[in-house]
Amino acid sequence: RIAFIRGQFVPLAEAVIPVMDRGFLFGDGVYEVTAVIEGRLVDDTPHLARLARSLAEIDIPNPFAAPEWTAIEKELMRRNGLRNGLIYIQVTRGVAERAFAYADGLAPTVVLFPQFQPVQYSPLTKTGARIITLPDQRWTRCDIKSTSLLAQVMAKHAVSQAGAHEAWMTRGDQITEGASSTAYIVTAGGDVITRDLSPAVLPGITRQTILKIARARGLTIVERPFTRAEALAATEAFYTSASTIAIPVATIDGHPIGDREPGPVFQDLYAAYMRDLMDLPEA
Ligand code: PLP
Repeated sequence: RIAFIRGQFVPLAEAVIPVMDRGFLFGDGVYEVTAVIEGRLVDDTPHLARLARSLAEIDIPNPFAAPEWTAIEKELMRRNGLRNGLIYIQVTRGVAERAFAYADGLAPTVVLFPQFQPVQYSPLTKTGARIITLPDQRWTRCDIKSTSLLAQVMAKHAVSQAGAHEAWMTRGDQITEGASSTAYIVTAGGDVITRDLSPAVLPGITRQTILKIARARGLTIVERPFTRAEALAATEAFYTSASTIAIPVATIDGHPIGDREPGPVFQDLYAAYMRDLMDLPEA
């Protein structure tokens, strides 16, 4: 695998970052994950816009303009022959003597590498996923795509110990979002409910696209918090992320959701998403 590390394309196995990088010492950085499907760079513009916003929120200068980022991504795809997989981008504040407070003028560290896992045609789109709920142990700025991911690491470990596929995280009675995904339920009346954007959740790029498709298909979208009890009573539930597109939920904490897998709303949205995507040109 070829990576882009601090300005150069190098074999990933040989890539190194200084120990004094603030990303290593403090998790002082942000990241993005963009899908590549059949040679298409999925939702590149909004992913780069969210990267710019995450950087601005933590006062790291954006090292590249959007067209420069895209050129690096395309070159990374070309050098790796990447047609199906993920592009991981990370920007940290840079290298400095260890101190919590930072000086101005540090050179941000930029890292990109590909992952070859296929994004589409997950078997879970047919069988549905097993979800567990867990307390959301993250900080109060979950709208920033921070590389400080200890709470999610702990949640995902609990998921694998439970033999499940994803965790939906709760604050009080309410579900905030998945450990690495946006959560949705469908009511008996056919409304699609997902939490409204706020610092409590990451503004999902796949969420943005799926909601646009859902609106175009005449579905009613209600952006509001929902409770675990509402989720258990839902006729359907699903989650979205760049790395999975969309996955239907079979069970939450062992309780079956709806009466068949995958549900009709999920199937319709997933099919529409894939059709729209294949209409796009290759990168
Ligand atoms: N919420 C969290 C906490 C995430 O980590 C992710 C993606 O990794 C998402 C939501 C989904 O966001 P996106 O659709 O942009 O991948």
